[in-house]
Order: sequence, then structure tokens, then C-alpha cells
Amino acid sequence: DYAPSTEDDSAARAWLASHDARFGHFIDGAFTKPAEGFDTLEPATGNPLAQVSQGVTADVDAAFKAARRAQKGWAALPGHERALKLYALARIIQRNSRLIAVVEALDNGKSIRETRDIDIPLAARHFYHHAGWAQLQDSQFAGYDPVGVVGQVIPWNFPFLMLAWKLAPALALGNAVVLKPAEATPLTALLFAELAQAAGLPAGVLNIVTGDGETGALIAAHEGADKVAFTGSTEVGRRIREATAGQGKSLTLELGGKSPFIVCEDADIDAAVEGVVDAIWFNQGQVCCAGSRLLVQEGVSDVFHARLAERMKTLRIGGSLDKTIDLSAVIDGAQRDRIAGMVDRAVAAGATLVQSGDVPTTGSFYPPTLLRDVPATCEAATEEIFGPVAVSMTFRTPEEAVQLANHTRYGLAASIWSENINLALDLAAKVQAGIVWVNCTNVMDAGVGFGGVKESGFGREGGREGCYDYLKPRAFAKVSERKA
Ligand code: NAD
Repeated sequence: DYAPSTEDDSAARAWLASHDARFGHFIDGAFTKPAEGFDTLEPATGNPLAQVSQGVTADVDAAFKAARRAQKGWAALPGHERALKLYALARIIQRNSRLIAVVEALDNGKSIRETRDIDIPLAARHFYHHAGWAQLQDSQFAGYDPVGVVGQVIPWNFPFLMLAWKLAPALALGNAVVLKPAEATPLTALLFAELAQAAGLPAGVLNIVTGDGETGALIAAHEGADKVAFTGSTEVGRRIREATAGQGKSLTLELGGKSPFIVCEDADIDAAVEGVVDAIWFNQGQVCCAGSRLLVQEGVSDVFHARLAERMKTLRIGGSLDKTIDLSAVIDGAQRDRIAGMVDRAVAAGATLVQSGDVPTTGSFYPPTLLRDVPATCEAATEEIFGPVAVSMTFRTPEEAVQLANHTRYGLAASIWSENINLALDLAAKVQAGIVWVNCTNVMDAGVGFGGVKESGFGREGGREGCYDYLKPRAFAKVSERKA
């Protein structure tokens, strides 16, 4: 038993009320009149939060026009002046961090502890980091121009953090943006637009158009986009790749994953068990780089699984504003049913189910789940579940671990647990993944490029390498002396 402690949501409700809980798009520095659209719901209760507009061709055209007008002047600013604006964005995020954290928890269903301690601080850090690159642009990226106007489409699992990952490098390096948040989680993007304007970002540099996949497709195919940057599912990524082929646009794709979490027999088992909590129950497992496939060496499998099952019993599940919980709601009922279906089919295929925790009866909740001894070909073992469900398998030798780890179409991240650093580094080199963590998991920093290999996509977000995705090189020759 524990006493829930609930975060105060009055400021968030007041912000929604200040817009009559009805939003237009944010184009050229102002909100458009709210138009026909859809409700965004609170996953933890099922209650509607606000009404948002469905972006249609005229909205997307207007947003790209505004971005094109603004981009030239924005790119013409000296890097250090653009840096000042980025610093101002970082600071206004920090000053409003609690408000953003509560709006995010309400809109997405994730816990306030995570939005407050992880999503929002990492987003602010992303703007600070990229302000630094703006400041150094002339010296560090001489011979590179901004790409120009960028269309960006993001998913619902980290609405505000993915917005920061997309906007900070694009804006820092002199691009203007048309961004579409996911239809399930549009609110923090709209809040950010308002804050960005208050922080002095010139009109048109940032445009937010809300809507579903149809609006996303309009953005991806728009002739006004010099580049498209997408984060989301591998299936939609493929569609965007087809839609942009032959258009002369550049493209980066941050897609799904099925990341291995390898526990060797010499691992610190307690640390590895705690690692699993972070790997697959953080954000209800709705994490692209979630350590969702546990590969455990046979000799420690029993003790590892026994301790993991004990640890699962202590996880608390509750509403997103309860400050004392570990897991909250998944994004919606459809996602919950999808997760439940995959778990049921894995059990039918012979997996052993370990589940614990009472879930609230309102809203879309799914309990923390472990599927043991999942057949390697079963859908739960190969497909991204995108929920609080770990699947586990055992291996005998490190070679077998590598084989199992790489037996996937994805290649986003991997986590390796061993007290033998030679073994850990050897495995790290052999696992096909864009990011490898040793004796830790889900560690991110704005200074390190994040992205995948194989069907997890291409392009990086963060660090110097992420900057190159928003620049284009220019070979330049000048005749200095003309012969008469
Ligand atoms: P999704 O692909 O369904 O939707 C993502 C976005 O694309 C949404 O804004 C959606 O409206 C839009 N969209 C849908 N159809 C479109 C189309 N035809 N053209 C253009 N846009 C379209 O993904 P989701 O369910 O919102 O997010 C979950 C997925 O995102 C998971 O697969 C997860 O792994 C992935 N993800 C990857 C990363 C990464 O960095 N690699 C980070 C977070 C999430």
C-alpha cells in the first residue's frame, strides 16, 4: 500500500482554458482560427483534453510559404545571434518546465515523474547544446549552407523531446521548419510555439501544423520542403521514403527497434535487473530504443528471472499525475488491445507469462509483463510491441548471443551487461546497432548522435553528426585574378 501524491494541474488546465481548449495551427507567428479536427484525450482517464485542427492542403501551403519567407533572414543572422535565440528557447523551457511537464503527462499519459525529470530537462539541454553549435557555426561548419526549409513529422511517445530533437539542430543551423506533432499528442508543440514567440523567435521560422497521417503525408510530399525529417514507425518511414523518392529532397528517418538486452553470466545480476526496469518499463515500454529482447546466458537464467519477477511485484501503476508511480497509461485503447493481442498469441505459441500489478480500470493501462522462453520466430520476438512487455530467451555462448541479437530487421540500440570489459566491448563491436550501452541502458545526451542502422533508419540526432543532417556542403571556387 502507498499513498498517492498528485501533481497540481491547475496551471495546465488554465492554459488550456485560455485557448478555450480549441486550437488552430501556429503559422507565421500566430494561431490560425480553430477549424474542424479532432479531440485529444487523456490516456490515463479517457477524458477529452482539447480540440485540435486537422491540417489540410491550404494550411500546409501557408506554413511552407511562411517558412520560406522567414528562412533567408534567419539564415543570414550571424551564428552568435541565432545562438542567443536558441539560448532564449532553452531558458523559456526551463522557466515553464512544470507547466510543460504537466501538459505532457496529461496528453500522453506518461508519468509526471518522467516528464518532469527526463523529457523536459533533456529537451532544454538539447536547445542549450545546439545554441553552442549555432555560436560556432561559422568556424565549425565553414563551407556548409543550411538545407533551407524542413518538414518534420514526429511520433507520440516523446512528444516534447522529439520536438526538441527535431527543432534545435534545424533552427540552430539556419533552417526554417514546418513541424507536425502526432495526432494523439499535439499539445506541448502548440504550447512551445506560444513560448517560442514570447522568447522572440522571428515569425515564420517555426510553424506547427496539427493533424493525422494525411497531414503528415502532405508535409512529406510538399514541394516547399527541401528536406523531410521523420521519426515514427518503420512502415510509415517506408511510405515517406517512397513519397519523397525522385523529388531531390534530403531525408532522415528515425524508426522502430527491437533492441537486445544481453545479460552475460558474469554480469552484476541486481544491476541488470534494475536495468530491465529502465529498459522496458520506462514510458510503459513505448520507447524506440527499449531493451525489449532480453537475451540471458543459461547459467544465470534462473537467478536472473527469479529476481526480475520479484522486482516486478514492486512496480507501481497509476494515473499520470501521481508522483509515486512507476508506470502509467499507454497511449490509447487501440494500443493496449494491440499489446494484449501480441502477448496472448505469444502465450499460445508456448511462452511463459509473468505479469504483476493491478491496473486502474479507467483509461488505457497494461501491466508490466515478461514473456519467458519465447520462440525465436514468434511475432512477439521479432516485431516491436511498443508496450511494457519484455520477451526473454537464453543463449549459451557469446557467439550465440550475437547471432540472436542481430536476428532482427532493426538496429537501433543494444545493451550489454558483463563485468568483463573485454567481453562487453567485443560484443559491442559485433552487435548491429546505432547505439550500444555497456552496463547501462537508455542513456541519452544532446552531444551524442542518436540513430539507427538497418530498418531502424538513417541520420543522427544530437552531436556534431546530427548537425550535418541539417546542412548541405558547398564546394566553392573563386577566380581571384583575371588574366587580361
Ligand atoms: P507512426 O509512424 O504511426 O506516426 C508517426 C507520425 O507520422 C505521426 O505524426 C503520424 O501522424 C505521421 N504519419 C502517419 N502516416 C503518415 C504518412 N503516410 N506520411 C507522413 N506522416 C505520417 O508512429 P507512432 O505510432 O506515432 O510512433 C511510434 C513509432 O515511432 C515506433 O515505431 C517507434 O519505435 C518510433 N520512434 C522512433 C524513434 C527513433 O529515434 N528511432 C524515436 C521515437 C519513436
